[in-house]
Amino acid sequence: MSQTIYARVPADVKQAADDYAVAQGKTLASAVAELLDRGLQAAGDEHSVAELERRVATLGAEAEQLRQRDQAVSSAYAALAQRTAGPIGTCPTCGSRITGRDLLISGQCPNAECGASLTVLLDTAGPKQLGKGGLNDGDFKMLLAALGLLLGIALISQGAGGG
Ligand SMILES: [Zn+2]
Repeated sequence: MSQTIYARVPADVKQAADDYAVAQGKTLASAVAELLDRGLQAAGDEHSVAELERRVATLGAEAEQLRQRDQAVSSAYAALAQRTAGPIGTCPTCGSRITGRDLLISGQCPNAECGASLTVLLDTAGPKQLGKGGLNDGDFKMLLAALGLLLGIALISQGAGGG
């Protein structure tokens, strides 16, 4: 079913419609009907396009935040990994050099013949009777600082994620 619209249009619009009809091999009437239909669809889509653009902008901002967080975590983790790999003191039982990893992760002397527990090194409250071993205070503090940085970022990230 079709109906008639009488509309007065500028000369250049009429000329463009004529050109379009010729190019498409259509009558002027069907060319105008098609163009009007497309125009109405485009006008209807404008709202959803604006909505999509807003969504893209929001997602872009979120992606940038995540990228920055990832970068901060990566560099904090690299600092911690470097600290845990470095020497931090000596075993109280055999005197072997121990790393942050030995102290915090395995908790044991890396010397296979010794393998003593290193938790005594973390007991700062008790009486100090460590024999030949001990922690390098400066190195240990640097390790704690690197650990604290990573922990801080993790806690901030959790807070930000909730909001
Ligand atoms: Zn040992």
